[in-house]
Amino acid sequence: TSLQELLLSRIKDVPDYPKPGIVFKDITPLLADSAAFTALTDAFAEICLRQGATKVVGLEARGFILAAPVAVRAGVGFVPVRKAGKLPGATLGQTYALEYGRAEVEIQANALTADDRVLMIDDVLATGGTAEASLELIRRAGAQVTGLAVLMELGFLDGRAKAEAALSGAPLEAL
Ligand code: IMP
Repeated sequence: TSLQELLLSRIKDVPDYPKPGIVFKDITPLLADSAAFTALTDAFAEICLRQGATKVVGLEARGFILAAPVAVRAGVGFVPVRKAGKLPGATLGQTYALEYGRAEVEIQANALTADDRVLMIDDVLATGGTAEASLELIRRAGAQVTGLAVLMELGFLDGRAKAEAALSGAPLEAL
């Protein structure tokens, strides 16, 4: 079977979670399946190597789980983007709109340099707001963005348009 079929078969739709009317994509069955998790990690690592990235950035919390093994496999460093208030030392913050209210993500101010080429990794691209804020942080930290790679995009929310605008020419890869 193809990579796509394997990954899709290990993602569970959970209706009415976390709120009525939302169908949540649960990736825990994929993480629990070594063959699927390895195939996903290899596919992300291949993108990382192809783009010549020097760092992968993972987004709290599921992005951490996906991006950390990619960093090890591709032989590059891992840098976390976290929810506000969790990183020590000087940080850069970016607020963004949620369905209800606002959220803020942060990166350590000295986590990246001008020589860094960064692949950002996350599980789900929904509205694109999180990706947009994180890509902005990577640039403000002084690095170059090589691309955004996600396990899946929810096409009906059109996060791709927002993400592509924030990527300014760098590729968006949805496995
Ligand atoms: P966005 O900012 O609307 O694109 O939402 C993307 C963020 O929300 C990502 O960091 C995802 O981890 C999370 N997210 C949104 N929808 C889902 C889902 O159905 N399953 C898992 N995570 C989700």
